[in-house]
Amino acid sequence: MTSFVTLEWQAGIGLLKIDRPPVNALSHEVLRSLLEQIAAVKTNESARALVLHAGGRTFVCGADLTEIDEGGEDLFNSVMDALEALDIPVICSMHGMALGGGLELALASHYRVAHRDMRMGLPEVMLGLLPGAGGTQRLTRLAGVRKALDMISTGKPIGAAQAQEAGLVDTLTDDAPAAAGLAFAQTLLAEGKGPRRTGEISVEASDDDRAAVNEALQAAEKRTAYPAAAHIVRCIEAAIERPFAEGQRLERELFRACLDTEASRSLRHLFFAEREAAKIPNLPAKLPLRSIDRMAVIGAGTMGRGIVMNFLSAGISAVLLETGQEALDAAVAAIRSTYEASVKKGRLSQDKLERAMACLHPTLDESALADCDLVIEAVFENMAVKTALMERLGRVCKPGAILASNTSTLDVNVLAQASGRPADVLGLHFFSPANIMKLLEVVRGDATSPDVLATAMALARTIGKVPVVSGVCYGFIGNRMLESYAREVDFLLMEGASPRQIDSVIQGAGLAMGPCRMLDMAGTDVAAKIVLEQEKAGALPDDPSYRAVVRALFEAGRNGQKTQRGYYRYEGRNAVDDPEFTALCEQLAKQHGIERRSEIPDSEIFERCMYPLINEAALILEEGIAYRPGDIDVVWVRGYGFPDFRGGPVFMADTIGLPSIIERLEHYARVQGNPHGYWTISTLMQRLAAQGERLSDWRPQPSNP
Ligand code: NAD
Repeated sequence: MTSFVTLEWQAGIGLLKIDRPPVNALSHEVLRSLLEQIAAVKTNESARALVLHAGGRTFVCGADLTEIDEGGEDLFNSVMDALEALDIPVICSMHGMALGGGLELALASHYRVAHRDMRMGLPEVMLGLLPGAGGTQRLTRLAGVRKALDMISTGKPIGAAQAQEAGLVDTLTDDAPAAAGLAFAQTLLAEGKGPRRTGEISVEASDDDRAAVNEALQAAEKRTAYPAAAHIVRCIEAAIERPFAEGQRLERELFRACLDTEASRSLRHLFFAEREAAKIPNLPAKLPLRSIDRMAVIGAGTMGRGIVMNFLSAGISAVLLETGQEALDAAVAAIRSTYEASVKKGRLSQDKLERAMACLHPTLDESALADCDLVIEAVFENMAVKTALMERLGRVCKPGAILASNTSTLDVNVLAQASGRPADVLGLHFFSPANIMKLLEVVRGDATSPDVLATAMALARTIGKVPVVSGVCYGFIGNRMLESYAREVDFLLMEGASPRQIDSVIQGAGLAMGPCRMLDMAGTDVAAKIVLEQEKAGALPDDPSYRAVVRALFEAGRNGQKTQRGYYRYEGRNAVDDPEFTALCEQLAKQHGIERRSEIPDSEIFERCMYPLINEAALILEEGIAYRPGDIDVVWVRGYGFPDFRGGPVFMADTIGLPSIIERLEHYARVQGNPHGYWTISTLMQRLAAQGERLSDWRPQPSNP
């Protein structure tokens, strides 16, 4: 018997406690112990009631996901059923969070007590699954069809008061879980109340409820990439139409079907990858972090405005520094109006808006940086401007202040040296719009001190970002991989593919936006300037046709959506095909001796866009730029619109199979030629393919200290 589950008696009332830090996840071991203790309750003739509760900071937050592939649905259901079948009243007393299997335990109990501040939900859908321990059947019985559809399909938790309104909770409390459960049990017994089994309730579904189910099913069936969506609705439908036991059987069957989908495997991979990405290898365990009470953003342009909002929203006092009053005023007005838009949509209260704005300290005076604990520069992407600024920051900022750059492409090591205090410097690469996009690439310079890196990771979480560490290289993880993708897009266009064909192939693969639309949105001038900068730095391949299309677009003033012409022509926001663009590609093909083809297969577009990107991911791992494969997947899913149901480029590579990717890369090396190394395959990928191993499972050998 483990100590994760204990049973104590107080005057005939059993106190069944789950205590498995940190979040009381239901491992198989916990479930088996619960089953044994429930059996003990059953045989105790003086038992009058049972209170289920948990120790630590929360009730049960779901199953232990590391065991999910081992089966166990039967074990889960046995526990729920045994709890529900007890013939004394069973009270579940919850605090913190009750998620997934945790809420299913509560639903299988006869009565529910909730701490006023707690939240509860069935988030399985976010992992491509459905609640497989009676959740779809019991929630529908307790809260009704519409609430069940909403809660299980979105996976979003609700607060205790809302749960009480929905019929999920009998009473709210401010007391500790055991005491509150005990008091409730005593009242029940005094009133002579007995068991009240959820499984015995029959669902009263109105015509409107049935219509809502049909509508939800039709919508969910269209979301073929996420099979759980439709299965959830089918289970809720079964709760209406079938007896409880049959509904449970269907739920179990569909749960297993979900478990076996690419979507669920991918989403679970991302769940673990995101957790792992937050960890920095080889850091001393109790490294003291630097405290960040006041920060500053330099440059109030597109990025600076978004970046500073993250800190304001988190209640951190922030200086915003600009070079001119007009630019500063415009930025402050833009920040307020972005918050106001959220207030209008009901996503933010006026009070929170005012509190955020009160944290903002706009200024033109560099001396305001002197007492800041963190300074993030978001000035023009120009090495001379940034090094001069870093040099001043090194002098103006107090000792111990962290100096960060939001550069997209420049060498963070050079910036660090310019500051004269490179241990305090790192890159914090936000993505546009910076107040919304979740990804934060944390760039560790050669000299960045471990506590600076660890502080940045913790801070990222405080401001609601998903941080991923990258080493220093051109473009870090994300933009470096984007480069090979953009390269092939330009070649395909010169060879005869249209922007529309490329975009539809890529969107068909699940990416949020095709590359041509994306470049038009970001501005072809921005993209071309980066290529030109690289050319100046001698960092481009010796290939005049390299990214020739984007450069030609820039030269022709076709800067994308903002000039109404780029890869497409724009009628308002509508992108239409443009014969002038086709003519430009024809002319470029002629100029560079590229043969045009009347038809390029969709499969070639997919392979030529995605496989070099995957190859680049393998190189990034080989070079130690990313700590682990999952980090790359998190970058692409959270920052670049890569579909979560494919798990990211590395996970997708394993789904496709490394040998077949290598075979196609070799094929393109043959047909395209490989004078510039575009098709040279990473040795890591070759080795893993030869050994039959997966790229996503690869981990670097721990280096000797
Ligand atoms: P921007 O041109 O919109 O804004 C730059 C601002 O910095 C301007 O308002 C300018 O007046 C101000 N500025 C310049 N020098 C200054 C100084 N010495 N002191 C104070 N303010 C100064 O540029 P942006 O798009 O916001 O980009 C800023 C940085 O963020 C660049 O390094 C860029 O590469 C990077 N970045 C941009 C994006 C993007 O999508 N735009 C994404 C990630 C990173």
